Amino acid sequence: MYDFKGQTAIVTGGVRGIGKSIVEGFLRAGARVIIASNEAATEQFKQDTSEFAENIDIQICDVSKYEEVEKFFEYIDKKYEGLEILVNNAGIRKDAVLAMMKESEWHDVLNVNLSGIFYMCKFAVMSLMRKRYGRIISITSPSGKYGFEGQANYAASKAGLVALTKSLSKEVARRGITVNCVSPGFIATELIQDLPNELRDSYTAQVPLKRFGKPEEVAACVLFLASKEASYVNGSTLEVTGGL
Ligand code: NDP
Repeated sequence: MYDFKGQTAIVTGGVRGIGKSIVEGFLRAGARVIIASNEAATEQFKQDTSEFAENIDIQICDVSKYEEVEKFFEYIDKKYEGLEILVNNAGIRKDAVLAMMKESEWHDVLNVNLSGIFYMCKFAVMSLMRKRYGRIISITSPSGKYGFEGQANYAASKAGLVALTKSLSKEVARRGITVNCVSPGFIATELIQDLPNELRDSYTAQVPLKRFGKPEEVAACVLFLASKEASYVNGSTLEVTGGL
């Protein structure tokens, strides 16, 4: 649908789940994709993307570690002529009711889901500003808008990244860079595969479309915001929730 030939996109956590679908979408549309991943690519990932192998570069990088993100961008600066797109997809959940939440569960989630996005944006923006063009898309969640029981840490991180997005969108707009969020509803990935059946059924009942979404349905919205066609969308959140 979109043409990303000649463009370079970074996708964090892109070897499975929603991130993998985003990577596949970019590859099919002609982009080169650099993945910042905690883990090496699985055999399944290699098989599914083999057709585009020369356009994929997977770098091990924990986005919650400032030094690792700094090294990741040093590598990109040396190897490539800048980039056009950053997709902040990596995210984790460590659910617990607040009174029982361990300090580490609070910090781990905030470190990956919010500080990680700050680190990635900080370095990416320097590169995008040189080109006077860029697209930054971060994956938030309805949890950040409504709050869900047992997700004080996750909800705070996802609300925080929306606020980060709005502020950054105002700082860099005059350099031709747009900054937006996509907010997926319940999407069938490993992130939520531990949900008990009763909870899964009750969540499904709340969705007007009466089903969980697919990773590729989220990827389609990310690709739109990353495209040249989305040139006047800035500081916004696109909800992909089946009407939740
Ligand atoms: P998955 O758990 O399937 O995938 C998350 C990916 O992020 C994994 O590849 C994971 O790698 C990577 N990751 C986690 N921590 C880090 C880190 N510190 N550095 C680099 N990579 C990391 O999740 P989804 O695909 O479901 O979720 C993708 C995004 O969408 C997340 O931000 C999530 O919060 C958001 N989201 C998901 C929803 C859903 O229903 N699935 C709903 C709303 C939002 P590894 O496991 O090896 O660490």
